[in-house]
Amino acid sequence: MATNIQCIGVLTSGGDAPGMNAAIRAVTRTAIANGIIVKGIYRGYRGLITNEITSLETQSVSNIIQRGGTILKTARCDEFRTPEGRRQAHDVIVEHGIEALVVIGGDGSLHGARDFAQEHNFPIIGLPGTIDNDLSGTDLTIGYDTALNTIMECVDKIRDTASSHERLFFVEVMGRDAGFLALNGALATGSEAAIIPEISLEKDQLAEMIEQGFRKSKNSSIVLVAESEVTGGAMGVAERVKKEYPQFDVRVSILGHLQRGGSPSAQDRILATRMGEAAIEALLEGQRNVMVGLQNDELVLVPFAKAIKKDKPIDRHLLDVLRIVSR
Ligand code: ADP
Repeated sequence: MATNIQCIGVLTSGGDAPGMNAAIRAVTRTAIANGIIVKGIYRGYRGLITNEITSLETQSVSNIIQRGGTILKTARCDEFRTPEGRRQAHDVIVEHGIEALVVIGGDGSLHGARDFAQEHNFPIIGLPGTIDNDLSGTDLTIGYDTALNTIMECVDKIRDTASSHERLFFVEVMGRDAGFLALNGALATGSEAAIIPEISLEKDQLAEMIEQGFRKSKNSSIVLVAESEVTGGAMGVAERVKKEYPQFDVRVSILGHLQRGGSPSAQDRILATRMGEAAIEALLEGQRNVMVGLQNDELVLVPFAKAIKKDKPIDRHLLDVLRIVSR
């Protein structure tokens, strides 16, 4: 059922991801092309409560597609986790005449979007904006490809020093309880192993992989570790290995926030642009409370409940591939 929406709000929330700007641009320009007024909300849900809202015109989003971060800023907002906080946000939305929202963010942001939409019977379309790639119902999230490329560049550099000194490096990458960055980062860099929260690795398996790395002409080993309580992070793994295998010259590198920054890759810019356009089309078709996802290169609409289910499967076969090709 088509709807007649005259004014939308757009916000970025939670962890920033490269490509969020490209998404804001596509949402804004597609809405304007359809005669819809666009309001930009600063600092995610916090800006809804504190009333930090500005009009976005075509020129407001000029020259941002290539920039990392988000021009609308992002924040975490504990008040929005409560019904009272969400009621305050609703009052501000009504005051501005906003009739629908586009929320660009990760799992937490879409949780908040779902709760708000249900409580206030309010139309929201979500866009998956997170480097972690941990939302269900979409093969890719905005920012993941850029972060993966950043990891690849960093690990290539670490390999140079690791092999010169014949060292074993544990490199910690982001992912917030998901191993997509660690596993695919390991594949892209020829790392010897990936330690990810989804699949437990026995001590013997790790030792075997490390020794394989040293046996090769490269004379070094690199293991990518997903940050997570389950894996213990790179520090935790390194401590254990040092105790068990004192013969290895072990080093730790935590890539940290540089994984979030940088100019978005072509893939992320294109994904964000396609998804931003699709978000407005979905609203105009009367869709609500769904996330735009990508499945087999087709855009799809995924109910929030499914997107935030935390059940996105990791391809276990890739671990076998990693084992075989790193021999
Ligand atoms: P991300 O969207 O990157 O996963 P967060 O988990 O920090 O980032 O979530 C961003 C914001 O979304 C939080 O600061 C909060 O305002 C809101 N949020 C997160 N989880 C919930 C929840 N379970 N219920 C309501 N709001 C939530």
